[in-house]
Amino acid sequence: MAQLTDDCFAQGGPLMRVEEARRLLAESITAVTERETVPLTEALGRILAEDVTSPVNVPPAPNSAVDGYAVHHADLDPAQETRLPITGRITAGQRDLPDAPRGSAIRIFTGARLPAGENGGPDTVMMQEDCTVEGNTVVIRPGIKKGSNARKAGEDVEQGSVVLHEGQRLRAQDVGQAAAVGRQEVKVSQRLRVALFSTGDELREPGAALEAGAIYDSNRYTIHALLSGLGCRVDDLGILPDRLDAVRAALGAAEGKHDLIVTSGGVSVGEEDHVKTAVEALGKLHLWRLAVKPGRPIALGQVGRVPFVGLPGNPVAVVVTFLNVVRPVILRMMGGDDTPPHTFRVRAGFDHKKKIDRREWVRARLVEGASGLTAEKFARDGAGILSSLVAADGLVELPEDLTRLEAGAMVDFLPFSEVTQ
Ligand code: AMP
Ligand code: MG
Repeated sequence: MAQLTDDCFAQGGPLMRVEEARRLLAESITAVTERETVPLTEALGRILAEDVTSPVNVPPAPNSAVDGYAVHHADLDPAQETRLPITGRITAGQRDLPDAPRGSAIRIFTGARLPAGENGGPDTVMMQEDCTVEGNTVVIRPGIKKGSNARKAGEDVEQGSVVLHEGQRLRAQDVGQAAAVGRQEVKVSQRLRVALFSTGDELREPGAALEAGAIYDSNRYTIHALLSGLGCRVDDLGILPDRLDAVRAALGAAEGKHDLIVTSGGVSVGEEDHVKTAVEALGKLHLWRLAVKPGRPIALGQVGRVPFVGLPGNPVAVVVTFLNVVRPVILRMMGGDDTPPHTFRVRAGFDHKKKIDRREWVRARLVEGASGLTAEKFARDGAGILSSLVAADGLVELPEDLTRLEAGAMVDFLPFSEVTQ
């Protein structure tokens, strides 16, 4: 297992900017997972661990893009209708093709091969909707361009070209592309084995009775879903009490069987926050105070040789921190490329004041307005308000140097759909 360099997470200044955090992580995290071969039906969402090169042309031969009549363009009168005898018929998948001499038309169907023939064969296909048929003669209107509706061999994929690249996460169309070049299986990175804990004496398992002072553990389910969405194999290890010995024992036990340990809660500096002390005792820990809202602090370190990420306890901070810091770490550990997700420019539908020198993510819903898509902010925006995330379509990202946003200005919007699957 490749690992972290010593002190790679040591923080220099007082508050760390997001870019700095991402740079440090990119420098220190390497792929840890082995490769495995999976059938295409299990490849969705996995990170490709090879370049896929096509051994064939796609399509392998010239063929028709429509149902219609294949003709030699040179036979057509550019000024008036052309009448041609229908001398043959070709359907999709047909192996033996009829001759298609000059001066004839061939009845042909979508995906059927175009015959080559001595004169190069028919080069143009007239859609059946644009022809009239009289007995065994097709009447073709003037005006069609040479090559219309005729697909060329290799026009989709050329033999020998790389169609999918190592490090990319496979989407539905990527899986289809692998099939289109004849692959039954692909090499992918093994799923990252992640141990997941929540910490806090107040937390109860959903379904249990809630006595005074208790709340349901939501973070573990949010994080489980986020990790699964990225293709991790999650080991749900439950809720840890606010007791140093218990946290220490559980983290120590999780080390051997996992590639990464993730916790939430217990990483502030209150005396009931034991995660920090426990990780320090078992390995190394750095508390990063990120110049972000919501989110800081986040704890990064190692339990033995296994990387450790301690997310904050507040449910909104969990999601925002996960998406911005943990997601790229996980993709990297699985050998994926972690090019930042796309944000989209939309109009802000709200005024907002913020502190200078920190990045802020505002939960927002997209509304179609007269002047295009507008991002509306959720009224209650505390870091503990999970329902604000439920109501949101994504996050408006406000840069460090901004202090005042006025409604109507253009802002960067990160849709959850870009980063949660
Ligand atoms: P902590 O970082 O442990 O001080 O937690 C900060 C806040 O987040 C507190 O209000 C906790 O009750 C809450 N919290 C911590 N963990 C969870 C969790 N797993 N699910 C829901 N809320 C949590
Ligand atoms: Mg706590």
